[in-house]
Amino acid sequence: MDIEETIYKYALTNAIEHGNKCQVGSVIGMVMSKNPEMRKDPKTVSQLAGKLVAKVNNLTPEEQQKEVESLGGLEQHAKKEEKPKGLPELKNTEDKKVTLRFAPNPSGPLHIGHARAAILNKLYQEKYNGKLILRIEDTDPKRVEPDAYDAIPQDIKWLGIEPDEIYTQSDRLEIYYEYAQKAIEIGAAYMCKCDGGEFKKLKDNCQPCPCRSHTIEENMELWNNFENMEEGEAVLRIKTDINHKNPAIRDWVAMRIVNQEHPRLGNKYKIYPMMNFSVTVDDHLMGMTHVLRGKDHLANSEKQTYLYKHFGWDVPEFIHYGRLKMDDVELSTSKAREGIENKTYTGWDDPRLGT
Ligand SMILES: [Zn+2]
Repeated sequence: MDIEETIYKYALTNAIEHGNKCQVGSVIGMVMSKNPEMRKDPKTVSQLAGKLVAKVNNLTPEEQQKEVESLGGLEQHAKKEEKPKGLPELKNTEDKKVTLRFAPNPSGPLHIGHARAAILNKLYQEKYNGKLILRIEDTDPKRVEPDAYDAIPQDIKWLGIEPDEIYTQSDRLEIYYEYAQKAIEIGAAYMCKCDGGEFKKLKDNCQPCPCRSHTIEENMELWNNFENMEEGEAVLRIKTDINHKNPAIRDWVAMRIVNQEHPRLGNKYKIYPMMNFSVTVDDHLMGMTHVLRGKDHLANSEKQTYLYKHFGWDVPEFIHYGRLKMDDVELSTSKAREGIENKTYTGWDDPRLGT
């Protein structure tokens, strides 16, 4: 079949499939996708298509049918490749028990974004016959809603999820202290007494602060005296790359003082880990192989990788999924709380909320 015949057949097919009228654009598209060699000569293709489409559109439906039969029947369309259904495979699942976690903050009731994370983890747990850990991350006493301690496990159960293990981070502060001290001892962390604004100015200019050159002994002395300090007086920082292209990743804070009664611990502790520190220590100690989290955690994954490398630990596979957005539904817990307080919403069960 020569080019002209080929295009004629496409035009007839297109007409018969679309109420006996064909479109030049569709015919050209069909030619280009089925005959890549013709892409080199678009001018000829479009001239021929224009001429033949006009010819086909002047034929009666019966004539179109007769013509296409004389050319061997309707042109078959290329089969569309089917997208694989179900969950994509996880990388690096050989020779290990796939271990995953769902780790919400108890800052309010769970919402649909949490449900998605929890269900994804559960489905992967089933797919790989793995282990699923529920970890309640309550190391920021200012962001703990006491009711959430009971509500979270209930909501998880309602979703049909039975975690293999459950942890609450506020039970584990001593563990974080132990690893903070280890980080100081291996020279991976330092106590920084700089004023926050001052430190930021230096950091934004890729300058180390004077505390970065403390000796291990100086750091240990400050660490041992940490508890007697006031909120904001000092922090423990993890050394990263002071020239890192993202300023947020440069020497991030691992531990700080929080002057606030903790709903579970009362005033027993003052030193609290930042999320990136406690999460890394726990993910390592709990044997996490795969960490599913939102794309908004990309920088956190990078921060945490520094700590894994300092300690010589295996880095889990980080998988970042897209953000869940719903029109007209408020998914932010803090905005929802604000709206409930000012009576914009009737309560956590208001249908305009993601909860
Ligand atoms: Zn400093």
